Amino acid sequence: MSRIVIDSEKCKACYLCIKECPKNLIRVSDKTNKLGDRIVEFNDPDGACLGCALCATRCPDLAIKEVYKG
Ligand code: SF4
Ligand code: SF4
Repeated sequence: MSRIVIDSEKCKACYLCIKECPKNLIRVSDKTNKLGDRIVEFNDPDGACLGCALCATRCPDLAIKEVYKG
């Protein structure tokens, strides 16, 4: 199963990754990081992630640090 790993301390809450994901698997979390930014989280209850890495490529802060293609 494909999945991503987000480095919450690098996330700047720009939310570009949310728009980029073709499966709408990234959402705004209710958590904040140490900088006070409202981070994003990966939400994929049905295992729909393609492992396409579009989200990681779009992130200007390299906060999506791993993409596992399953
Ligand atoms: S694109 Fe990167 S910095 Fe922007 S919200 Fe997504 S993970 Fe955070
Ligand atoms: S790897 Fe592709 S399908 Fe998976 S969360 Fe990122 S953009 Fe969405």
